[in-house]
Amino acid sequence: MRDVVIIGSGCAGLTAAIYAARANLKPLVIRGLEAGGQLTLTTLVENFPGFPKGVQGPELIELMQSQAATFGAEFMDGHVTRVDLSRRPFVIEAERETIEARTLIIASGASAKMLGLESERKLLGHGVSSCATCDGYFYRGKEVVVVGGGDTAAEEALFLTRYADQVAIIHRRDQLRASKIMQERLFRNPKIKFLWDAVVTEVQDVERGEVTGVKLKNTKTGDEAIQSCHGLFLGIGHSPNTSLFRGQLEMNEVGYLITHEGSKTNVPGVFAAGDVQDHIYRQAITAAGSGCMAAIDAERFLEAEH
Ligand code: NDP
Repeated sequence: MRDVVIIGSGCAGLTAAIYAARANLKPLVIRGLEAGGQLTLTTLVENFPGFPKGVQGPELIELMQSQAATFGAEFMDGHVTRVDLSRRPFVIEAERETIEARTLIIASGASAKMLGLESERKLLGHGVSSCATCDGYFYRGKEVVVVGGGDTAAEEALFLTRYADQVAIIHRRDQLRASKIMQERLFRNPKIKFLWDAVVTEVQDVERGEVTGVKLKNTKTGDEAIQSCHGLFLGIGHSPNTSLFRGQLEMNEVGYLITHEGSKTNVPGVFAAGDVQDHIYRQAITAAGSGCMAAIDAERFLEAEH
């Protein structure tokens, strides 16, 4: 029986682990499918306090993990397949093990959204990617497109200019949603061009098993066109990893967990932290802060029970 089980090993989960471990609760962190969370898919993080020269995302995660381990947090690879929150102790099934927990901290984050096209699904990993940091290297000297108009798309596009000769941003409107500083960087970069008012209706070429171009439709005129490219990167936002908790925990209409009074969910003893419950700020520092809150809430919950 565990005092605290933490699902997820991004900024939120690891910060919760540091705090819970320092409170002598020997937390178990179940790392999950995308271990380390979104910071492991990024490069330089320039806005995490304490690093005036920036810090590489994967390095920051490694530092947090070793900090948690120093204080006694334990880690398990793999992902959770089922949870039963209807009784206490809570039951968590992961990697064919059944774990019982007095409290549960959910920090399972959010994953990249897809366009929902059949051709996109078929070419995923064969030219379609949601992670420029992971796959950008393969596009040295090539042409790529990035879909989206927010900060994720901006970051991906800027990163890709290190390798690709040309990066076209495909956006469904004629104005970016990205922050001003990112917009300025995009507009200044000679390798970046914009395809405004356009949506991707098909990724080609499924038969060849590689990306050769995208079919575009203009959202204002309905005109169709083909943009040739060797890679398609998705930067259209994220959806929360909460399917395990459907029917057990309160969520909003798009699946983000609802928390109140800090990190509490509607089930006493279950807390949520990070992007799984935050669709507004979604920053490394806010995720870390909410992980801290969840650990303190779990600690107080356990204390009150004794
Ligand atoms: P956003 O929701 O901000 O942006 C998503 C973008 O994708 C929008 O431009 C949206 O278009 C477009 N889009 C959504 N769905 C589709 C679709 N089906 N087809 C075509 N286009 C689509 O998500 P982000 O992931 O970019 O950012 C989320 C949050 O994280 C923001 O608060 C952002 O500031 C933050 N962030 C910060 C970073 C940093 O500081 N370095 C890096 C990355 C993210 P439309 O504009 O028309 O809605």
